[in-house]
Amino acid sequence: MVDVVISGTVALDSIRTPFGEVREVLGGSAVYSSVAASGFARPGIVSVIGKDFPRKYLSFLKTMGIDTAGIEVKKGDTFRWAGYYEYDMNQAHTLDTKLNVLAEFDPVLPEAYREAGFLFLANTDPEVQMKVHGQMKKPRFVMMDTMNFWIENKKDALTKMIEKVDVLVLNDAEARQYWDTPNLVHAGRSFLKMGPRAVIIKKGEHGALMFTDGACFSAPAYPLEKLVDPTGAGDSFAGGFIGWLARTGDLSPRNMRKAVIFGSAIASYNAEGFSLDRLKKITRDDIFNRYMMFQDIVSF
Ligand code: AMP
Repeated sequence: MVDVVISGTVALDSIRTPFGEVREVLGGSAVYSSVAASGFARPGIVSVIGKDFPRKYLSFLKTMGIDTAGIEVKKGDTFRWAGYYEYDMNQAHTLDTKLNVLAEFDPVLPEAYREAGFLFLANTDPEVQMKVHGQMKKPRFVMMDTMNFWIENKKDALTKMIEKVDVLVLNDAEARQYWDTPNLVHAGRSFLKMGPRAVIIKKGEHGALMFTDGACFSAPAYPLEKLVDPTGAGDSFAGGFIGWLARTGDLSPRNMRKAVIFGSAIASYNAEGFSLDRLKKITRDDIFNRYMMFQDIVSF
């Protein structure tokens, strides 16, 4: 039974970092976030792939306990993203985005997904996010992510979507871009006025800020010794966050703070390897161990 529905991209990524290069590997916002969420919950993906998508990647998702019934296979090519990082690994530089089958995607949720209590609208076209949201019966909790591409190209649709969610998660540059301000506190508070009860601004290797009514929670990032590829860190953060909430069923601000730390712990593992190489190997014990390290890091 799927308890967290995750819509977003299933991609073939080509990535270069100062530590290596990979071509056409498994990626995409729905992939990273569902693999991260699978540490705590049973996610189901809503997305689209082309006929060229390697079967082994679908089998891999299934072995991680992820339901793939919501992944439509269409004639054409799979969504592709190519990018690189320089020594400032907080900043992904996009070389190429090929929407391919995603351009015409009209999501239809499997019947079994519609009753799920938790929905994560991972980064994709806000019009698609809206269609997915509209097909859910009565989700208890809805969270969304976005990126600069959609702020530039579909800001009106994005705004309508933000007004409908419980939690908005995005990175610092995107928050600044949306409000045209250098001030993250101003941006966070302004998003809260649009409707979400919490806004999480990710700051890469500098951690994350969570704004709720009258409060601000600041979480560090795990001080990684081996950083290989940060692609998917934001998505793994969000997947870990919603996975923990779905597992505990507790939506209190206090538990959301714990969820931020679980998300950060999982995201830190993800950055230790390309694609899903590291994330696919971590155990529940690894996640809890790193959670404890976070407690140690902030204790004084
Ligand atoms: P992040 O967690 O922000 O590093 O997300 C990385 C993933 O986002 C990559 O695996 C890409 O395939 C995917 N991606 C890149 N551009 C887009 C886009 N415009 N919409 C949705 N997903 C994207």
